Amino acid sequence: MNLAADIRKLVDATLLVDTHEHLLEEATRLLPDAPARQWQAARDFSVLLSHYADDDLVVAGMPPEGLQTLQNPQVAPRDKWRAMAPYYARARHTGYLQSVRMTLRALYGVDDLNEENCEAVSDKIAAMIRPGYYRHILKDVARLHHCQVNSLEAQIFQETQYPDLLCQDISIVPLATNPRPTQVRAITGMQIQSLENWHRAIDWCFEKYGPRAIAVKDQWAYHRGLDYAEVTAAQASPLFDRFLQDQKALNAGECKAMQDHLFHYCVRRATDFRLPVKLHTGYYAGRGKMPLHRLRHNAGDLSELLRMHPKTPFVIMHITYPYQDEAIALAKHFANAYVDLCWAWIINPTAAVRFVKEFLMAAPANKLLTFGGDYMPVEMVPGHAAIARQGLAQALAELVAEGWLAEAAVPELMERLMFRNALELFDYERCARG
Ligand SMILES: [Zn+2]
Repeated sequence: MNLAADIRKLVDATLLVDTHEHLLEEATRLLPDAPARQWQAARDFSVLLSHYADDDLVVAGMPPEGLQTLQNPQVAPRDKWRAMAPYYARARHTGYLQSVRMTLRALYGVDDLNEENCEAVSDKIAAMIRPGYYRHILKDVARLHHCQVNSLEAQIFQETQYPDLLCQDISIVPLATNPRPTQVRAITGMQIQSLENWHRAIDWCFEKYGPRAIAVKDQWAYHRGLDYAEVTAAQASPLFDRFLQDQKALNAGECKAMQDHLFHYCVRRATDFRLPVKLHTGYYAGRGKMPLHRLRHNAGDLSELLRMHPKTPFVIMHITYPYQDEAIALAKHFANAYVDLCWAWIINPTAAVRFVKEFLMAAPANKLLTFGGDYMPVEMVPGHAAIARQGLAQALAELVAEGWLAEAAVPELMERLMFRNALELFDYERCARG
């Protein structure tokens, strides 16, 4: 009997719920001009580097021209390979690049990229892009129960071709944290001349999309702290009127107060529709811009929010990396705090293993969601899922070997972590009916 191998076999045999992706609709990927529209729809090997891995290549020293070469659909695969090869060698051990190789293995039967195979791999990528290929990649290869998608194609809610496979979040960014009157008027067809009207527009969105959504999502932590103060409608109304007149009229403090009011309004509506609220916390995508001093306060700010809305389940995304200890403290202390490892497995795989072990020793096991690929290209999901499976198996095997977890408890715990927690927290059945 080999403990680690047995646990790994169990993990591989278990379906995984994917609680966070930014997947483009399959129909978008099938458009003839998709590669010209955006890099994340490329049909050569560079699509595998188009979300996250490119950041590590640039941080490893790849110049802007190298990135432009990779992004250009007119450039041949071999020329793309030559532009990135030195930086690929430098960055190859990171989680982002390991995810690329895991996907190469899972989808195309290749161990690594090189100058000799980059054309053949590109041909295989292009050949796979056919109607129905999302289901093949996500169900047959990655062995997912379903995905939850925060679409970057739609403003608020993406009407999907596959509601049972790609459950959609409602984005409250255009409604609350970065209000977009023009778009919201266009979507709702409503006149908006006051805060009162804006509340009705938010209500309209929840009534229309709420019964078909899986959750609510906001990522404005990329632009502000999570210190959402309670601001009344009477206080927010004159600010909102000025904002409607001129979207640059408010100073930073006034703008924050308006966002604070609208955010709490949306949280209450989400709760009416039994939708958990997913919040970006911690590390930033991209490069060269992360204000780490502000991120340090994410968990502290959240503790206020958790206290103010005790009936609202909040999903603390990305484990607040690199402040993941604080996420454990929140999950342990607040019944409505859930922590999601989405994206974390590839930001830092070994930190994520450590995190799972420490989380399980401190907080109830139902508070942890263990996988979200966080990708736009569907091809990258199997790679990330393979890393998550490897990490989960390692974390539980180490806990057993170290005497903190009974081996007999592993099957039930694994099932809970991989899919039961998500199915208890989110109303998948309601969402899948479409
Ligand atoms: Zn994301």
